[in-house]
Amino acid sequence: MGHVIPFLLAGLAVLLAWVAPGLMARQKGFRRAPRSALVAWQAVSVGGILAALAAAPAAVPLLVGGGDPAEHLGLVLPAVLVSTAILVRLLYAGHHEGTRLRRVRAEHRQLVDIIATHADRTRILQHPTPTAYCIPGRQSRLVLSQGVLDALPPDQLEAVVAHEEAHLSGRHDLLLEFFSVVHRAVPAPLRSPEAVGEVRLLVEALADRAAVRRSGEVATARALMTLAGSRAPEAALGVGTTAPVRLRLLADGPPHPVLSVIAYSYAALAATLPLLLLGLAWS
Ligand SMILES: [Zn+2]
Repeated sequence: MGHVIPFLLAGLAVLLAWVAPGLMARQKGFRRAPRSALVAWQAVSVGGILAALAAAPAAVPLLVGGGDPAEHLGLVLPAVLVSTAILVRLLYAGHHEGTRLRRVRAEHRQLVDIIATHADRTRILQHPTPTAYCIPGRQSRLVLSQGVLDALPPDQLEAVVAHEEAHLSGRHDLLLEFFSVVHRAVPAPLRSPEAVGEVRLLVEALADRAAVRRSGEVATARALMTLAGSRAPEAALGVGTTAPVRLRLLADGPPHPVLSVIAYSYAALAATLPLLLLGLAWS
C-alpha cells in the first residue's frame, strides 16, 4: 500500500489542478451560491497544492521502513522532485505576482490622487464615461467618474458603491491574487484556463449580492446595465465587465440551500483527501 500512496497523491494533484476545475466551471448552477462556490474553488486549489507537496513526505516511510533503501529510490526521487518543483514555483509565482500587482496599484493610486477630486477614500474622475472601480490594498480607493454620478439616480449609485465596498471589505483582491498565484505555479500543460475566469465571475456575483442587499434587485440590475460597457484598469476591480451573465444571475434570485451544502461538502473532501492519504502513508 505504501508504494502506491505517492502515486495516488501525484494523481490527485493532477485531478484537482487540471480535471476538477474544468468540470467545476461547467456547473453554472453554483454561480447562484457564489460564496460557497468560491470556498469550493479555494479548497480544490489548496487540495491540489497539498497533494503535490505531500508526495515527498508520503514516500519517506519507504526509506526508513526497512528493506534496501536503493530499491525504493526510484520512487522517492520523483516524489521529492514533484514536491520541490511545486514549492519553488509557488514561492516564485507568489513573489512575482504580489510585487507586480502592488506596483501597478500604487502607480494607479498615485495617478487618481493627482487627477481626481476626493473625499475620504472616494475619488471622482472628471470624465463623462460612466465608470466605477476600486483600487484595493491598504490605502484603498473607490473611483467614480463624473459620468456615473450624472447617469445614475441615488439608489443605483448606492448599489454601485455597495458593490465596490464589498470588494474592498471582503478583500476580494487577495482571493483573486491567491488564484492567479496558484494558476501560475501549476505547470502550463496542467493549467485550467476556465478557472480564473470563473472565479472572477463568482467574485463579481458576490459583490452584486451586497449591492442587492443595499438597493434591491431592480436598482442593482439597472446600474449594471448602465455600466455594462465600462472597463476597469488592470489590477483594479470594476463593476462593468461580465454584466450580461450577472444580470441573469440577479434575475435567478437567491440560491437553493442544497447548492451550498453540496459546495461545502465538496470543498471539505478536496482539502482533506491529500492529508488523509499522507496520514495513511505514515500509519
Ligand atoms: Zn466588481
